[in-house]
Order: sequence, then C-alpha cells, then structure tokens
Amino acid sequence: MNEMETLKQWIEESKRIVFFGGAGVSTESGIPDFRSVDGLYNQKYAYPPETIISHSFYKRNPEEFYRFYKDRMIYQDAEPNAAHKALAKLEEEGKLCSVITQNIDGLHQMAGSKKVLELHGSIHRNYCEKCRKFYSLDYVVQSKGVPKCECGGTVKPDVVLYEEGLDTDTINQAVYELKHADMLIVGGTSLVVYPAAGMIDYYKGNKMVLINLAPTSRDNMADLVIKGKIGEVFEEILGK
Ligand code: NAD
Repeated sequence: MNEMETLKQWIEESKRIVFFGGAGVSTESGIPDFRSVDGLYNQKYAYPPETIISHSFYKRNPEEFYRFYKDRMIYQDAEPNAAHKALAKLEEEGKLCSVITQNIDGLHQMAGSKKVLELHGSIHRNYCEKCRKFYSLDYVVQSKGVPKCECGGTVKPDVVLYEEGLDTDTINQAVYELKHADMLIVGGTSLVVYPAAGMIDYYKGNKMVLINLAPTSRDNMADLVIKGKIGEVFEEILGK
C-alpha cells in the first residue's frame, strides 16, 4: 500500500482523529509561514521576527511592533484551502474531535471547524490592556499606528507573543484531546516552537501521520511521513 492509501485507510478506521498544525497549513491560502525559504524569517527587517513579536519588544516599541504585525501577520483576504476544508468535513462526519493549531489566522473556523484549540491565540480577538474592552480585527487594521481604546489604553491582539505563556485551559483541553486520540495527524509545522511542539508527545497511539514539506526532528517518531503540500494531500484523499 502506498502512503496515500495508508492515510486514507487509517482515516476510515479512526473515530477520534486529532489534527495538530502550524503555519504550513495556511501557506496554500497565501499566508507566509516563518521558516520556509520564502517565509518571514528569510525576509529582511530591522529586527528578526521573533524579536519584533516578543512581549518585551511590544512593550518597548509598540509602533514598530504594530507596523510589522499589520503588514506581515494579518491577511484579511485569505480564504481556507483544501486542508482547512477537509478537516472541517471530517469533524462534521464525526471522525475528527479537534483541531489544535499554532496558527492565529482563524481559517479553520472560517472553513467550518467547530472545535479549534488555538494555542497561540487569534488575530480576530483584541482587547484593551486597561479596561479589557474587546475590539475587532477591522478596528485594529483601520487604526493608525498603535490602536487605542476609547478609555485611552492600548489595544493588544489576543495572540501569544514570544516570552508569554500559553493559556492553561487551552493546554489542558489539548492534552486531553491528544491523550484520547486514536489517530494524530500533524501537518504544516516545523515543530520547533515550544511548548506547543512538545504537546504531540501526549499522543500514545500508533497512527501518527506527519504531513510536511520540510523534514522535522520528529519524522522518526511518526508512523507515516508524507512529504508534500498538505492542501494537495487532503484534496487527493478526500476531494475538495
Ligand atoms: P514554521 O514556519 O516554523 O514551519 C512551517 C512548516 O510548514 C515548515 O516545516 C514548512 O516546510 C511546512 N510547510 C509550509 N507550507 C506547507 C504546505 N503547504 N504543506 C505542508 N507543509 C508546509 O511554522 P510553525 O511550526 O507553525 O511555527 C511558527 C509560529 O508562527 C507558530 O507559533 C505560529 O503561531 C506562527 N505563525 C502563524 C501563522 C498563521 O497563523 N497562518 C503564520 C506564520 C507564523
């Protein structure tokens, strides 16, 4: 049996599939990842991206943070691709329990996924650091420079910046899902951003599939490795 047939058969046999993904899931929607050759880490900025999108940089230099963030992290016209759609379909069919994502773009929800655990938050939620009032993505995009609340406080995206901790409730739910999964599909992630990447160790089954363009340090622990574009892989096995 070839890799695609094995993947298809495992999906058919499974009832509690969990998907764990990263920026590579959205590249086919036109959103650059961080570590591919055309990713953000290979473009030149005054500071490396992990410096700009860190908590200390945000506090020290919010103008520069927001200049980069609005320009490089927000893609309002992006649409879900075949991977997002296939995962939503699997959930609707009762086979997939949850999507655990490191992405902040909201494309899984746009595709129809209901149970999405966003480890790194979302660009679609924004709140005032002073009075906690919520603001939409449009408000942030349309604001000039640093978005401000009507109370005078600074509006911050509900996105986990480098140096910030992950939400405990989201982690606990993700751990539960991984422990109870009968199949784990990992895709579009370099698996180098911790603690998120280490979470896949909670899966103890024998159907772990890794779908990624570049090799990862976890290829050797996967039961099946498919090197390819995740949207194309899902399209081939499940259709559009
Ligand atoms: P990463 O950039 O470190 O790695 C992406 C991986 O996906 C690479 O290994 C690459 O080979 C692979 N890839 C790219 N396109 C692919 C495709 N079409 N099919 C299969 N594989 C593909 O991304 P990461 O591991 O998610 O870590 C980066 C961090 O940056 C995350 O925390 C994430 O929150 C954030 N980020 C999010 C977005 C987004 O929300 N869309 C975009 C950029 C970065």
